[in-house]
Amino acid sequence: MGSFLFSSDQKQALRMSRHLAAAMSLLVFTFICVLFYSNNLFAIGKLTFSYILGFFWAGVFLFTLTFRLGLNQRFADPSLTLSQIVWGTTFLLTITYLLNESRGLILMAYFGMFSFGFFKLRFREFLSIALFAILGYTLIILYLFVYEPDRIDIKLELLRLLAFVSTITVMLFTGSSIHRLRERTKNQRTELQEALELNKTLATTDELTGLYNRRYFMEKLAQQKALSERDDSDFVICYCDLDRFKNINDTFGHHTGDIVLQKFADILKSSIREIDYAARFGGEEFVCLLVQTDMENSKKVTERIRDSLANYNFSDIAPSLNATVSIGIANFKEFNTIQETLMCADHRMYAAKRSGRNKVVFSDEKTAE
Ligand code: GH3
Ligand code: MG
Ligand code: MG
Repeated sequence: MGSFLFSSDQKQALRMSRHLAAAMSLLVFTFICVLFYSNNLFAIGKLTFSYILGFFWAGVFLFTLTFRLGLNQRFADPSLTLSQIVWGTTFLLTITYLLNESRGLILMAYFGMFSFGFFKLRFREFLSIALFAILGYTLIILYLFVYEPDRIDIKLELLRLLAFVSTITVMLFTGSSIHRLRERTKNQRTELQEALELNKTLATTDELTGLYNRRYFMEKLAQQKALSERDDSDFVICYCDLDRFKNINDTFGHHTGDIVLQKFADILKSSIREIDYAARFGGEEFVCLLVQTDMENSKKVTERIRDSLANYNFSDIAPSLNATVSIGIANFKEFNTIQETLMCADHRMYAAKRSGRNKVVFSDEKTAE
């Protein structure tokens, strides 16, 4: 039954359950009507009474079908709140007309039905539905007063109408303030989500280069260590330090230095795979985590990175500007702790500096060039 009625789409399922809740209330109301009927409170025959109930319930089933088939999604408000309330109000107005002097009892049912629009409808929508009910009720009273005066006590009905209008007016204002409150909460939730998203980005990325920051990189390293220990795979850490970067700053200015850092970050990003990680460790130092990679492949990747920067054409920024990087690489399997692997990569990077810079060092004796 559940899967037959409810869509797997969460929003659609929610709309269907709201519709079913309204239909349940209408069912209770229908039972009350039947009870009234059996107590001779209606001025019509059994067949007409059954037809009227059948007609309105056919409408309710039409709504059920619309939700089930997803046709409601074609409308501006897919919850169809307004149209369902209009249908329910028409039902109530018809019963109001058909009842004899006890029609005042039905007034409570209007409020029950309006409560379904309390959270969903805007002020103008709620106003139009309230006016529809008030106008309908007034017309019924007037019609009865003129054409069937023996079925109405006009004084009593006018007093009821007054009570009806004032209660609806109060409902209208509370309803609209609840609606506003709901909208505000919804907006605040969206803003909060955006702020959370931004916060997450700020917490994980380096502002200047858009690469990951040190904290996030260390987190990923720890995860990678756990993974590697589980599936016995290897990973490689590359430690990169731009050469004589202080000179670049001193000669071309800090701003140009920043551009070089960004360019190098772009080179890193485009040289590694989707599954690898590149981060700015601080200043002009960068690190990469190459997963499921052996030293042979890592040498190729880091050589490409080194070569790309050394041959990068910075002439549009400053004619004589060029930059190089020294890189040290170490594989996790060799040490089995993150700290030691990182330290080894760092030492090898310094070895690259000592042996003339613009180099990749992957072992404690040899250099790549
Ligand atoms: P080496 O080849 O030995 O690494 O020399 P180096 O000049 O690169 O090394 P050093 O550690 O002496 O200098 C690093 C410089 O990087 C100093 C610092 O001003 C600069 N730096 C650090 N962070 C930034 C930054 O965000 N932007 C810019 N433009 N420069 C930075
Ligand atoms: Mg440095
Ligand atoms: Mg440096």
